Amino acid sequence: MALIVQKFGGTSVGSVERIEQVAAKVKKFRDNGDDIVVVVSAMSGETNRLIDLARQISDQPVPRELDVMVSTGEQVTIALLAMALIKVGVPAVSYTGNQVRIHTDSAHGKARILQIDAQNIRRDLEAGRVVVVAGFQGVDEQGNITTLGRGGSDTTGVALAAALKADECQIYTDVDGVYTTDPRVVAKAQRLDRITFEEMLEMASLGSKVLQIRAVEFAGKYSVPLRVLHSFQEGPGTLITLDEEDSMEQPIISGIAFNRDEAKLTIRGVPDTPGVAFKILGPISSANVEVDMIVQNVAHDNTTDFTFTVHRNDYQNGLQILESTAREIGAREVIGDTDIAKVSIVGVGMRSHAGVASRMFEALAKENINIQMISTSEIKVSVVIEEKYLELAVRALHTAFELDAPAGTAE
Ligand code: ASP
Ligand code: MG
Repeated sequence: MALIVQKFGGTSVGSVERIEQVAAKVKKFRDNGDDIVVVVSAMSGETNRLIDLARQISDQPVPRELDVMVSTGEQVTIALLAMALIKVGVPAVSYTGNQVRIHTDSAHGKARILQIDAQNIRRDLEAGRVVVVAGFQGVDEQGNITTLGRGGSDTTGVALAAALKADECQIYTDVDGVYTTDPRVVAKAQRLDRITFEEMLEMASLGSKVLQIRAVEFAGKYSVPLRVLHSFQEGPGTLITLDEEDSMEQPIISGIAFNRDEAKLTIRGVPDTPGVAFKILGPISSANVEVDMIVQNVAHDNTTDFTFTVHRNDYQNGLQILESTAREIGAREVIGDTDIAKVSIVGVGMRSHAGVASRMFEALAKENINIQMISTSEIKVSVVIEEKYLELAVRALHTAFELDAPAGTAE
């Protein structure tokens, strides 16, 4: 008998029929003898609808009041699911964040969970009830309702699992797991049986949007085993854990992530003097523009070139700042490029294998794809390439690192 926290997202509770399907699923686990705590999101589209309502009153709704309102979406689904469970003979009780209590700080709209009182829930579990908790919301020290940020129900699920020392936190969603890469780009992408927290964070921040990043960080910090599963299809899903598998069997690369959200800025003919990197990036960071990859060339003729990437939304702003910096420090020219893409290979296995980067470069060379920038970390190698070659690059790398599903087994 296990204690499992199950989180169902907006599409899984998007209609009364679906809520009844969720109740049937929960009942199956319950009939198996497991203790179940369920966390639900609002019905799909509901949170957006509520935010739109507020915007009809004001462009910048008062954060405290906005939280009072958007938290109602989850209050509806917890009650509906509890009713659906009771209807099929499963004793159930619903709780808002305040009723549990899920204590957070007072940062409305992006509150952080500080502590959870789990006695109510434990008492109900002992009495044989399924406990249904509203995701996304909590309460601050003054008793104000807070919300955790969009997609925050994942974090509620993980935090409850940590507080209850649950055996597993299951995140039910509209995909059947985490894939080696986006199956829309590579038809032979495969579902991963397991992946480490570290890898998942790299995959998530690089655009594999299955889980809220904060929830993965939280799960890693408290070692909560996390499983991503399809809400309405049977299957083992993907387990996200701390342990790295036996390194003999472990693939070197677990997945290939990519994004098209970045743009490249280059300042050329910069006088090669101490402090120049700070002069270039200082004004960029003062403008709250986040920089991702950075490359500075070896100086030549006492000048150097300096290239970095920013989010595409920050491109125009970054370009203007860089042009004024160029005039100030006497650089030759500024050029920019938005037609770029970043491709990354991710895997804890590369820690124990040499030559992973060169294997990546070889695969790209074979396809005649030019690499514009490179960056590496312990478990990741990223390259920037011309955007039009992105799909070709991802497919070539997927094959080169033996991630393709064997013929006839693609899911
Ligand atoms: N209902 C909230 C949102 O739409 C929280 C969640 O779905 O996790 O962002
Ligand atoms: Mg969600």
